[in-house]
Amino acid sequence: MTRILLLGGTEEAREIAEGLADAGADFVTSLAGRTEAHYPGTVRIGGFGGIEGMAEALKGDHVEVVVDATHPFAAEISPKARRAARMAGARYLRVERQRWRRSGRDRWISVNSLEEAASLIDSGATVFLAVGAGGVAPFLDRRDLTLVVRSIEEPDLGNRHDIVVIRDRGPFTIESERALFEEWGFDAVVMKNSGGSGAAAKLVVARERGTLVYMVRRPQGQPWPTVRTPDAALKRLRRYL
Ligand code: NAP
Repeated sequence: MTRILLLGGTEEAREIAEGLADAGADFVTSLAGRTEAHYPGTVRIGGFGGIEGMAEALKGDHVEVVVDATHPFAAEISPKARRAARMAGARYLRVERQRWRRSGRDRWISVNSLEEAASLIDSGATVFLAVGAGGVAPFLDRRDLTLVVRSIEEPDLGNRHDIVVIRDRGPFTIESERALFEEWGFDAVVMKNSGGSGAAAKLVVARERGTLVYMVRRPQGQPWPTVRTPDAALKRLRRYL
């Protein structure tokens, strides 16, 4: 049976794992271990120690297909996995959801990084940081902003005690996002162009209200996607099973 290594950490990866488990496939899911997650089947946790480490693990475990369903903003693992798969003689499939596209009524400022967003926001603004706990650091020096962070994990706020933290996990509805925007009257939202539906409601509400969105572009150098959705990935994988 074809042995598959599924690189996860996303909703897409979980759906692929479920599909593979239903199909009785021989697969292992790999997670970085940053957050808790529940996947069917065998799960291994932690980095491989770089490209060579991953290539050796692939060879040692006789992996024939690497399915890379990691997050579009996980900038290191995908180029590494592609190279490691090549070194180990395994196939490499990249599953990457579509990015969000600007519509006519959107007020987006596209930026290359959170640091760039942090440097551009007008003084005095009330800002919704929808950037995850790990994305808050570039904003900590902006004491002239009112900052509201929403994240799954507790962010490290240094000595900033004035930042509002909302601990929550998506998906979020348009109604709940409307209520949040109404409560805080945000002047700006900062987010990464992750794409997908689970985080898209805030974009809809920002559009409705004419709120400025600092949209971080996807990192450069990611392997070109093989497919965009879990269904398409499973269809492709059925050819190899
Ligand atoms: P990253 O910067 O691309 O990767 C850093 C290192 O973490 C990699 O070089 C690798 O270590 C290890 N790693 C990453 N994903 C792994 C996996 N699935 N299995 C085993 N090792 C992995 O990644 P990141 O941005 O820190 O994200 C970590 C994980 O969280 C990813 O798997 C991603 O799918 C998920 N995630 C990330 C974001 C985001 O915005 N970045 C959002 C949601 C979910 P070695 O070099 O030692 O192998």
